[in-house]
Amino acid sequence: MKRYIEEFSCTNKHDDYYKKLVNELEGINGRLHIFNNINREINYGFPFSVKDNICVKGVESTASSKTLEGYLPPFDATAVERLKSKGFGFLGKANMDEFGFGTFGINCANPVRNPFDETRVAGGSSSGSAAAVSILKYHTAIAESTGGSISCPSSFCGVVGFTPTYGLVSRYGLIDYANSLDKIGIISRSASDIRYVFDIIKGRDKYDTTCVDNKVSDERKSKLIIINQLMKNVDEEILSRFDRFISKLQNSGYKVEHVDIPFIDKAIPAYYIISMAEASTNLAKYTGFKYGHKVNDFSLGYNEFFTEARDVFGIEAKRRLVLGTYVRSASVKSKYYEKALRLRHMLIDSFKDALNDGFIISPTMPILPPKLDEAKDLDPVKTYSIDSITVPPNLCGLPHISFPYDYVNGLPLGAQLITNHFNDYAILDFAERWEDEFEYKFKYNLGSL
Ligand code: GLN
Repeated sequence: MKRYIEEFSCTNKHDDYYKKLVNELEGINGRLHIFNNINREINYGFPFSVKDNICVKGVESTASSKTLEGYLPPFDATAVERLKSKGFGFLGKANMDEFGFGTFGINCANPVRNPFDETRVAGGSSSGSAAAVSILKYHTAIAESTGGSISCPSSFCGVVGFTPTYGLVSRYGLIDYANSLDKIGIISRSASDIRYVFDIIKGRDKYDTTCVDNKVSDERKSKLIIINQLMKNVDEEILSRFDRFISKLQNSGYKVEHVDIPFIDKAIPAYYIISMAEASTNLAKYTGFKYGHKVNDFSLGYNEFFTEARDVFGIEAKRRLVLGTYVRSASVKSKYYEKALRLRHMLIDSFKDALNDGFIISPTMPILPPKLDEAKDLDPVKTYSIDSITVPPNLCGLPHISFPYDYVNGLPLGAQLITNHFNDYAILDFAERWEDEFEYKFKYNLGSL
């Protein structure tokens, strides 16, 4: 079992360690664009980064959006505050797709490059968080997922990404994307480190009334369930590696069952309708008055003023504003938004039934990380369809984890494991046991002791 946090705390650190780490990081950051800012104040705790849509007191937090440039939160997000109080050392704010809108980490000023192959994307939207874990030996990332933003970049960057049950970690201090879907989670180099951090940040918080104190269980399952429809769009090379991985698990005692889940192919449209509807209301506050890009020319007319204030949004944010506003408008909301909500409930019921006696397992992503230019050329609907495997557990608030299980042409492959609500420890346990027999590879090990 790899325990980087424990290993790190057993050694003596000096001012030099942190200075050297930051210098190395700044060098590589110019090329890979992993951090939006790096903390230069020396600290000795286990280094953690924070996705740029999670607030850190006094540190610019922009969610990689131009509209929030210069925003210095006057408080720490609960997850950040809890880690700081346990002596962890804040290292910097990680780059991401603007407001979390994206699958490849390219919807921002400087897209993050994949540490395994710098011509490729790191995955999104927590691109910087996963890439930071991939290059730093001792480090954990506080990230966030709405529809797969932890699993996807973790898979592309060869690290472990854990998205807890919706409501187990306080969202206080998160710059919202879609409140009914957003989860703060953890990306690390090992599942044991994730467990350690999870135990610190989870649990009731008076500042987030959707955050619960439910008991988290560790119910092991002996069956692995493969959902047929999710495998349909997976690249052949990935499929054959995944089959080999499943055979290994079968040899170690797991039973495997293939099932169909009704309407799972509608998870993508339902997710994008709900998430865009909520995103469009969340973006409404960036008018340039209290929040958002300031327009100082008060001679402008109403339309000109707000057009200028909101023109700084990137193209994907604008797309979501328009579509999100449309799907919840009175004349069509029963056709789109309400139908999507009903579908979400049906899917939750189907998943609960399926998960009663097994874990659901699949490759995390249906494709290898594309080259940056290829990703930019994809049309939005094609891009959304790439989330077909990571969206369903997110839509249903189910805990899931992505961990590396193989490498192909020097690129990591991730597997995604899903379990029932509040059985989060069981998937961490599964990944911990996997780590005992499979060694993860990294291209960089910055900060080695
Ligand atoms: N790719 C999905 C989206 O763009 C998920 C992003 C996320 O989880 N923040 O909505």
